[in-house]
Amino acid sequence: MPLATEITLPKEVRPEFPDKCISCHSKPDSEIKIIQNSSNPLLAFFIPLIMLFGCSRVKVPICRKCKKGFLLQRWSREIILIIIALVVVFFVSPYFGEWSSLSKKLAVGGIALVAIIPIIIVEFIWPRVFSTTAWANSVEYEFAERDYALEFYKLNEEKVIQSDVDDV
Ligand SMILES: [Zn+2]
Repeated sequence: MPLATEITLPKEVRPEFPDKCISCHSKPDSEIKIIQNSSNPLLAFFIPLIMLFGCSRVKVPICRKCKKGFLLQRWSREIILIIIALVVVFFVSPYFGEWSSLSKKLAVGGIALVAIIPIIIVEFIWPRVFSTTAWANSVEYEFAERDYALEFYKLNEEKVIQSDVDDV
């Protein structure tokens, strides 16, 4: 189980957030728009079709001074992932030139999988402050801070489909 706390709401629900910065929990003086297809690098990498599920769009309270760090954390991981994927595809693919199309895809996919394992571990151990995963009919909201997740849960309790705060 990831160390982040996950709360799933129906896709059409606009969730309410606590009146606290997502990052430092002080009074927010700004907000940040999050648009995301999938926070799961494995899914995002292997199932680009997940894009068809649509994306989640949500406004999250944040203070101005935390914005930079939040965006940096978010994009640095995305960018590292994309770079690894590109490196594998461009530099490893040629070695499998003689292979059939399917086995080549499997081989390159397997190498890419191994290459992104460290990222998956990082995501697991140090979850992002906040992240979302959009599914066909629902959106998963993932919080690194359990207390913040609990407040979020209480604000949206009636609409929650599934969460791992039930045991509290
Ligand atoms: Zn803050």
